Amino acid sequence: MITRLRFSCLIASFDGNTRSYALKSDSADLAPWNFERRQPRPDDVAIEILYCGVCHSDLHVGRNDWGFTQYPIVPGHEIVGRVTQVGDDVSQYKVGDMVGVGCMVDSCRECSACHEGLEQYCLEGMTMTYGSPDRHDGSLTQGGYSDRIVVSERFVVSIPDKLDPAVAAPLLCAGVTTYSPLRHYGVKSGDKVGVIGMGGLGHMGIKFAKAMGCEVTLFTRSEAKVAEARENGVDHVIVSSDDEQMAAATETFDFLLDTVPVPHDLNPYLNTLKYDGTHILVGLVQEVDPALQGGNLVMKRRVLAGSLIGGMPETQEVLDYCAEHDITCDIEMIDIQNINEAWERMQQGKVKYRFVIDMQSLKNA
Ligand SMILES: [Zn+2]
Ligand SMILES: [Zn+2]
Repeated sequence: MITRLRFSCLIASFDGNTRSYALKSDSADLAPWNFERRQPRPDDVAIEILYCGVCHSDLHVGRNDWGFTQYPIVPGHEIVGRVTQVGDDVSQYKVGDMVGVGCMVDSCRECSACHEGLEQYCLEGMTMTYGSPDRHDGSLTQGGYSDRIVVSERFVVSIPDKLDPAVAAPLLCAGVTTYSPLRHYGVKSGDKVGVIGMGGLGHMGIKFAKAMGCEVTLFTRSEAKVAEARENGVDHVIVSSDDEQMAAATETFDFLLDTVPVPHDLNPYLNTLKYDGTHILVGLVQEVDPALQGGNLVMKRRVLAGSLIGGMPETQEVLDYCAEHDITCDIEMIDIQNINEAWERMQQGKVKYRFVIDMQSLKNA
């Protein structure tokens, strides 16, 4: 009898021994690393990770560009996989479900932002999927370049059957980051929308704006991207380094979705907005340089705005929206063994448009 009880306990316990690729310092390459995931708490689901998208933030945090990184760190916050175990209090998911985990894994759950389903703006700060102290035990969260993860069901979303799980992965960051501000700032059918930059975020922004019925223009610095942009369905392309093209676009746009993650001159873009137009930053977190001319806002009642990912309800919404409208992210699938080369190419902008790691490859690591 006692032997049987022990046996059933062993079966129920979660195997936390996790394979991953991690950075041991800001100058190290990503390399195999084994660590222990926590045992699931009552509201947790354990997930076998099948795919993980590769986001520019992975690189920034990995290289400690934002100054808070503790090592070793396992990046990755575009995670799709199957539920392998659920805690006693879990009600929304069962073993075998295809699910996703995005940029955050916890928040205070009690503040006004959390109550509104805007956990990314939690007044106490969200717990990020990797590199954040866990709110319960203080351990450092580790991300999706790994074979399993344990997450509270509140921070898990369901992957619709219609979506290919590999292409769904980047929707969890790149997708919701571009979808959320278009919705929040009221972009609607017939609006003229300019998308600045055509990387992982920009190409998703183009798809959403088109699906919402907008007339979409890509702003790109590179003449070489004009044909590519047209293939992606944009109505117009403006080469932003061409002053004549920029001048010809003066006061023509309702919205600009600015995906550029490095400092750039906002003034010429602002001047392409109509009065009451809105310039939305989703990539830039550093100071604006060169300086902003206040008159470019004041004289036309323009709005300069920002937006960070999306809350949990909206992360589910974007997945459902993509399933309904047949929107996918264009991906290049890689094995985890090629991740360092992928980071290099991502830094040079040489990816169309998102790398996704096939986590089966980790079994060969
Ligand atoms: Zn991201
Ligand atoms: Zn909160």
